[in-house]
Amino acid sequence: MNKQSEPIRVGGIHLRMFEYQAKEILVKEGLDVPRSILLVEETDINKVKEAIGYPVVMKVQTLIGGRGKAGGIQIVNTEEEAQSWYTDKIGAHIKGKKVESILAEELVQIEDEYYLSITLDTLTKEVILLFSTKGGVNVEQTKGATNLFKYFINTNYGLDDFKLNEIFSRANVSYERWAQIKKVINKLYYIFTKYDCMLLEINPLVFTDTNEAIILDAHFYIDDNALYRQAEAKQIVQDMSSVYPQSWLKINYGFDFVKLNSQGTVGLLSTGAGLTMAIVDELKNRNIHTVNFADVRSGQLKGDPTRLVIILKQLREYERLNCIFVSIFAGITDLAEFATLLLEAKKLVVFDREIEWIIRLEGNNFDEAKKVLENEGLLVTNSLETAFDKIVSMEGVRKN
Ligand code: GDP
Ligand code: MN
Repeated sequence: MNKQSEPIRVGGIHLRMFEYQAKEILVKEGLDVPRSILLVEETDINKVKEAIGYPVVMKVQTLIGGRGKAGGIQIVNTEEEAQSWYTDKIGAHIKGKKVESILAEELVQIEDEYYLSITLDTLTKEVILLFSTKGGVNVEQTKGATNLFKYFINTNYGLDDFKLNEIFSRANVSYERWAQIKKVINKLYYIFTKYDCMLLEINPLVFTDTNEAIILDAHFYIDDNALYRQAEAKQIVQDMSSVYPQSWLKINYGFDFVKLNSQGTVGLLSTGAGLTMAIVDELKNRNIHTVNFADVRSGQLKGDPTRLVIILKQLREYERLNCIFVSIFAGITDLAEFATLLLEAKKLVVFDREIEWIIRLEGNNFDEAKKVLENEGLLVTNSLETAFDKIVSMEGVRKN
């Protein structure tokens, strides 16, 4: 089974919300979560006593799973304890992620911890509901076991009540709880659809000593391709551009920059999703790894090199990168115009090391484009094979 930190692999590019953001949405949609306060500076701790009252559970807000086991969750009994734990964790790194905020929550008395998730399988396009009565931090040990129930939701008809009855019955959930869990599942499915989620995972959904169903933790992933119509998610991306650089590029410049291999040596600046993926594979077959996937949409540059500059700046971050492969298959784009923009961008983004440029162009005004670029000493070809051969022959580009 997968590691605790990634209970479910989410395919495709997505925006993952912080727990406190996810819970704000869940509450807005009528679900129950513990009362809480987000702590971003030390003085926020003063509000905890009145708003919640001790003891409280303190939870670091980072985009990792398994915070409990990594020391990111603590029950504190007094303001002094809260203070000292806050000081200890804020600004510290947990599993490589810096803690920028901490959620202080009402302590809930747990009777049972359930696991619940709705996932979009990007390959089969199926929506899958998973349910287990053995939720909590050790849920990964239960995956694949008999107490994990899987249900394929027919998206044309929605959730099937009989199917849920069957799951609860087979999972031995006591009958008094069925209606409450159903309410949660139905709302989650509604939210999943409304917010264009790829994954909505609740672990745990707890039943308290007074038999309330409360969501203690939520993983909320939104499909990047849907961000344009998701106002809240869009705002989050604009406010936290450094946390979500890929989504930020997508929203503001309309192109995809997908990180592939941080140890790769070749950066791609290309058009066409299908062709770009083929290039990634072809290079991989030659034992060469690309750091990214980027579709620049050359037709939309409109005389402005900004997009190209942004991509080059992203590529500059990869320490092993020593080759930039430009592959433009242009329909209406004037390649000569593109060539000029590329040179402008190249001047604006200075690398601290030697970079080999391989440029493969196909389309309108190729000869002129070739002339412009070769004038600057760049290699230009209209053959993919020639481009691949050139890259393969380069020093230090292949993985040893
Ligand atoms: P994760 O480790 O990142 O998944 O963080 P969670 O928010 O899921 O918390 C991990 C575990 O901490 C839960 O499964 C609970 O067992 C425990 N926990 C979290 N909040 C509370 C609470 O309010 N009361 C109690 N008793 N336990 C809690
Ligand atoms: Mn959890």
